[in-house]
Amino acid sequence: MALSIMIYIFSGLLISASLIAFAIVSVKERRITATLRSIILVIAVIVGWTGWYFLVGSETFWLFLPPVVVMSGLVLFFIPLGQIKPLAIGKITERVDERDTVFAREEYLPGSEKYDRYYSTHPELREVDDRIRRLPELLEPGGRYYDEAPAGSARADFREIEDMTSRVDGKVTSPPAPADPDWMTAWVKEELLSARADEVGIAKLNPMYVYSHVGRGPEPWGQPIENRHKYAIVFTLEMNYHEVETAPHLSITRETARKYKQAAVVSINLAKQIRELGYPARAHIAGSNYHLMLPPVACDAGLGELGRMGYLISPRLGARVRLGAITTDLQLQTDRPVTFGVQDFCDKCLKCAINCPSGAIPSGPKTDIRGVEKWALHVERCIHYWRVIGTDCGLCMKVCPYSHPPTFFHNLVRAGCRRSSFARRVAVWGDDFFYGRKLRLPG
Ligand code: SF4
Ligand code: SF4
Repeated sequence: MALSIMIYIFSGLLISASLIAFAIVSVKERRITATLRSIILVIAVIVGWTGWYFLVGSETFWLFLPPVVVMSGLVLFFIPLGQIKPLAIGKITERVDERDTVFAREEYLPGSEKYDRYYSTHPELREVDDRIRRLPELLEPGGRYYDEAPAGSARADFREIEDMTSRVDGKVTSPPAPADPDWMTAWVKEELLSARADEVGIAKLNPMYVYSHVGRGPEPWGQPIENRHKYAIVFTLEMNYHEVETAPHLSITRETARKYKQAAVVSINLAKQIRELGYPARAHIAGSNYHLMLPPVACDAGLGELGRMGYLISPRLGARVRLGAITTDLQLQTDRPVTFGVQDFCDKCLKCAINCPSGAIPSGPKTDIRGVEKWALHVERCIHYWRVIGTDCGLCMKVCPYSHPPTFFHNLVRAGCRRSSFARRVAVWGDDFFYGRKLRLPG
C-alpha cells in the first residue's frame, strides 16, 4: 500500500480512536449526551474520510486536505495565540461592610433592632429583602427541591460549623519561635495538603479585602473589624463532581456543607498550631465567621481567577471548589497571582449567564466595582432563587466548562485554553456540542 494512503488511513484512525476514548471517559463521567455525540462524530469521521478518499482518489495532493486541516487546528489549539488579560484591579477605595452583604441582611428580622437600624439608613433595600425573608429558609421545608434526608445532613454540618466559631482565634501565650520563612511556608502547605486540601496559596493580605464591620456571627453587630494580619493562607477543597452534577437539587448543598465543615476543621487546626509557635493566627470559617472576602484573596494567593459568575476558577478544578483561609503574622513566602485565560474564556462562553434561572449573572460587559473591573452579580436574585428552591442551586458551577474533572482530555483542553484564544473559542463550541448549551431545569 502506498505510504500516502497509509498516512491518510492512520490519521483517520487516530482521530476516531481519540473520539472513542473520549466516549468511554464520558460514560465514566455519566455524561451520556457527550458519549452519544462522540459516537456520532466517530461515524462522521469514518464516513467523511472514506468518502473523501473515493472522491479525490489516492494519487492526488487533495487527499491530504482533511489531515492537514486537523493538524493545523491542533497546532493553533496549542500555540500561544492572542493576549491573555488579567482581571483589571485599580485602586480599591473602600472596604465592604459585612452588614451590607445579602447573607447578613437575610438575618435582620422585622421588628428587631437590627432591622430598624439597618433599613432606616438603607430604605431602598427593605422591599427586596422582605421578599426574600418571606420565603422558606434554606434547608427548611417549603423549598421546591426540599428533601429531608440531605437537608438534615447539611443542617447538622452547618450547626457543627457554628459550634466551632469560638475556636477560630485564641491568645498567643509563648514567645515567637525562630521562623525561617521558606521552612514555614513548606510546613504550612504540607500541613494543609496532608489534611486533604487540594491546593494551597499564600498572599500578602490586602486590607481592602477585609470587611469593615461585623455583619453576622457572635461578634457584636457593627463592630469595626481590625484584622491587621500580614498574610492570608488560602486553600481549596474539591467538591465531588457527581454531587455537583445533581444541582440544583439538595445533594449539592449537602456537599457544600461537607466541604465547609472540612475547611473549618482544617483551618482551625492550622491556626492553633501557628499560635502555638508564638504567632497570631485566625481561621475564617463559613456560616458567619469570615473577616475577609475569600475569592479575591484566593486570586492574590495564586489559586485561580474570578469567573463571570463570581466564583474562583482554579486552573485544575475550575469552579468546583470551596475555600478556606487562615490569616496570620507568621512570615511566609507568597505566591503570585495566576492568569490562564479565564477572562477571555468568560467573554466567549456565557454559559453560566444563559443557564442561571434567576438572571443573576450578567451576560454583558464588566463594570467597575470599587476599583475592580468585573461582572456584577445580582446577588439578591440569586439568594431569592435559593430560597424558592431551598438549596444553594449551584447550576452556574455545574455548567461551567472549567468544572469538568481534571482527567486527560479535559486537561488537554485546559492546556490549550491557557495559551491560545483559538483554543478558547473551540473549547466553548466543543463544550456546547458535547454537553449542550442550555440545560433543561428539573421540574
Ligand atoms: S447559584 Fe444559581 S441562581 Fe445563583 S448565580 Fe448560580 S445559577 Fe444563578
Ligand atoms: S460558565 Fe463560562 S462564562 Fe461562566 S464562569 Fe464558567 S467559563 Fe466563565
